[in-house]
Amino acid sequence: MQDLIPAGVVSLRLPTPYPVGPVNCYLIQGELPTLVDTGPPTEEAWAALVRFLEEHGLGAGGAWQVVITHAHPDHFGLGERLRSRFGVRVLAPRAAAGWLAPGKVDEWEEFLADFLPRAGVPGEVVRQLRKGRFGLGDFRVESGPDGWLEPGTTVRMGDAPWEVVSLPGHSSCSTGFWRREDGTCLGGDALLLDAYAHSVLEPAMDGKGWYPGLLRQMESLERIRQLGPERVLPGHGEPVTSPASFAASRLRYLRGRTETVWGLLMEGEKTPYQVVLNLYPHLSWVELMSGLWEVMGYLDVLEERGEAIREEAGGKLYYRAL
Ligand SMILES: [Zn+2]
Repeated sequence: MQDLIPAGVVSLRLPTPYPVGPVNCYLIQGELPTLVDTGPPTEEAWAALVRFLEEHGLGAGGAWQVVITHAHPDHFGLGERLRSRFGVRVLAPRAAAGWLAPGKVDEWEEFLADFLPRAGVPGEVVRQLRKGRFGLGDFRVESGPDGWLEPGTTVRMGDAPWEVVSLPGHSSCSTGFWRREDGTCLGGDALLLDAYAHSVLEPAMDGKGWYPGLLRQMESLERIRQLGPERVLPGHGEPVTSPASFAASRLRYLRGRTETVWGLLMEGEKTPYQVVLNLYPHLSWVELMSGLWEVMGYLDVLEERGEAIREEAGGKLYYRAL
């Protein structure tokens, strides 16, 4: 992997307990050494991260910094621990402010407890998922970061200014960093080679409905295509060496899946859960969640395009093809 990464950038792959598998963190070396993403809040990841930092001469005293791409625990989960152990500054995208506030995750849990039955998920399944707090336990934070990164500005990492690029969709706060001089983009989870990272459905910030992740994700793929980086260093998996054409192929895939869902709705109106069962008849409860987030994305796209309509009856959401 390291041979696909430019000099002065070192990658570190840390284990995570999540279905997505290991996460990539990057160290940008130079005048202001910068760790991009932290790994998850596990002892195993912490031990490997501390060893890596020691190997690269990064210790206490705050002569280096931490930057995160988005507020998911595999990317920011060790931020607070790094700050208290090493005295470093932790910077996060401004769009993450809503999620990096104590107490926000409780609202998220309430939202999902309300949403899942409306999506047609059977009550017993919702009760079981709720016992596991919908997998949101690691999203909790005790305090926010030390500073915010604004899209359109630059952040100094290593020896160069990196442009802060908004790439929302995977999460509402997903952000990339773009070094124009050599076309390197740190993409977080906006463009992954071997997995399309469906994230947990987020409640909309205004409290009305949910965040339309796939619609924003498709816009971000288009943004990457237009930016035309030489390489995207992703949050999971191998570097993407032809990002523009790969982003275009992701878009084609997602449009194809959206058409498939439209075809299912043409056969008759369905709840989101019924669409999931049609696409994936044999999902475990945990997989059911990610299947549902994926389907909600396609339904949002169809609704936005005027190709499907949503109605609520008997406390359940039904989608019908137009
Ligand atoms: Zn991730």
